[in-house]
Amino acid sequence: AEEVGGGDKEVVREYFTNDGFQRWKKIYGDTDDVNKVQLDIRIGHAKTVENVMQMLTDEGSLRGVTVCDAGCGTGLLSIPLAKEGAIVSASDISASMVSEAQNQAKEALQGIDDAQIPKFEVSDLESLTGKYDTVVCLDVLIHYPQSKADGMIAHLASLAENRLILSFAPKTFYYDLLKRIGELFPGPSKATRAYLHSEADIERALQKVGWKIRKRGLTTTQFYFSRIVEAVPA
Ligand code: SAM
Repeated sequence: AEEVGGGDKEVVREYFTNDGFQRWKKIYGDTDDVNKVQLDIRIGHAKTVENVMQMLTDEGSLRGVTVCDAGCGTGLLSIPLAKEGAIVSASDISASMVSEAQNQAKEALQGIDDAQIPKFEVSDLESLTGKYDTVVCLDVLIHYPQSKADGMIAHLASLAENRLILSFAPKTFYYDLLKRIGELFPGPSKATRAYLHSEADIERALQKVGWKIRKRGLTTTQFYFSRIVEAVPA
């Protein structure tokens, strides 16, 4: 049932370049012009970023560690990563998101060494190349059915040397979320669907390419659910 409807890459790209960009820039920003649901999502997402930063720094300093932030959005993870000294390569399928992230980073990282400014690039994650110590992909899989997510996870794992962190909307909350999906994607942007993933499916996709889950986290607020997994080579 989760594969009904659109959700393919072109639809997602179009959404996050135009209407979706405006909507999510607001949610991920700090202005007051958000409704109750959007504010709740903003808070939930900030907790996810916090949890991920905690997971990463728990294993030691990030100074000089190469990190790929795939589907970076407005840069809300890239910026704290850079502040911790990571060498960040950030990319997103949406050119609007990438230029917003670039502006946000310039402002937030004033005075920082040039080499410490994240490198931003417009690219879908499937086209990324190179090797990174750590690859992170937050709240992107929600836009794709499991059949697509498998390949995305395999590709992200192929870029990572030591660590892969993914966040996704867990299927556990399926019925609960169904009621709310209309609120996550209101109006014309309903064309973009939200796909939930079972943790077992994500784990299987990782195992298939030789990775195992080392840590799990969960962020929930009223309207935002995100399961975080940290995988390492098995
Ligand atoms: N990861 C960011 C964060 O947590 O702040 C942004 C999350 S936002 C809900 C989803 C982002 O994924 C959007 O910026 C969108 O453009 C991007 N995206 C969607 N599909 C993508 C793909 N196939 N490759 C790269 N980025 C993608």
